Amino acid sequence: MSNDYYQILGVSRSASPAEIKKAYRRLALKFHPDKNPDDSAVAEQFKQINEAYEVLSNPERRQEYDLFGTVGGPRMAESSSDFGMGFGGLFEDILGGVFGGFGARSAAYRGADLRFTLSITLEEAARGAKREILVPRLEACESCNGTGARPGTRPESCPDCRGRGQVRFSRGFLTVSQTCHRCGGEGSVIVSRCQACRGEARITTERTVTVKIPPGVETGTRLRMSGEGEAGTRGGPPGDLYVVVQVMEHPIFRREGDDLTCEVPINFTQAALGGEAQVPTLTGLIPIHIPPGTQPGAEFRLRGYGLPNLQGYGRGDLRVKVLVEIPSRLTPKQRELLEELHRLENGDGTPLSKSFLERVRELFGG
Ligand SMILES: [Zn+2]
Ligand SMILES: [Zn+2]
Repeated sequence: MSNDYYQILGVSRSASPAEIKKAYRRLALKFHPDKNPDDSAVAEQFKQINEAYEVLSNPERRQEYDLFGTVGGPRMAESSSDFGMGFGGLFEDILGGVFGGFGARSAAYRGADLRFTLSITLEEAARGAKREILVPRLEACESCNGTGARPGTRPESCPDCRGRGQVRFSRGFLTVSQTCHRCGGEGSVIVSRCQACRGEARITTERTVTVKIPPGVETGTRLRMSGEGEAGTRGGPPGDLYVVVQVMEHPIFRREGDDLTCEVPINFTQAALGGEAQVPTLTGLIPIHIPPGTQPGAEFRLRGYGLPNLQGYGRGDLRVKVLVEIPSRLTPKQRELLEELHRLENGDGTPLSKSFLERVRELFGG
């Protein structure tokens, strides 16, 4: 985009103030961030349009710009708060409140949404749970009924803006309206403050909220509790409470979607001979059959022993991975028997070793 203010606004260097104002109005509407949310390129353009207008609409600054190609004094490119006068006020004056009052505040506010992280165990995630949590939040002050004024008194109309929330003043050829500083745009001021909330109309309290956790939740699941957020002001609705679930690490199980996985060590003789192994599940130990000749890393799937699906689509499985353990110490008797076994080995029961040895012999001509 051009750095030339006239080009930015698309007007000639001899444009009249009315033409500049008209061009600005058209561009500001087109590039207004409300119409283009989340578009940083548009936001940048909008900023430049405002910067150009801020200079060219001011006869003195325009003259300076025409002479030197730049404007001295404070630069105002960085943010709207850098503008010489209230940017919102300027904008609102030109556009006549097209966007429902840029920067102006309405009387009733919705309360803020709250976020609460709740840690639960894997077992609780599996079967669901009910938990009571203490949520600190702002609630309407009971002493003043949420008005902020001392009981028996009421907020009065703001004398500066006569209750309008906006003040107007002249600046050059422009009449500018700005949010009233005294009342912050609310149109009313508290003459005598409520002591309980110091005029804030809301006070911080801790509230017990019962959270029902459905079976199958996982880390990051958000449970929305409507109306359990902060209180609104002046009759505004309360915000919502978002409980974000965090499922704690389990000493035995790992989770993969609705499935659970775990590793179970078995003895190498058990793997060779076959037998029964005790396997943990979320509800206790159950026996599984180990077939003779089970290899390290073999996986057994226990259908339905995983977690229930949050949307109600059945249950996941438990996948048990077998770790075959080689004894690290042997008694003399064990050693004797193993040596006997070793002498009897002919490779027929261990096809991997047999084919590997054959390939090695071929390679080295053994
Ligand atoms: Zn006021
Ligand atoms: Zn109060």
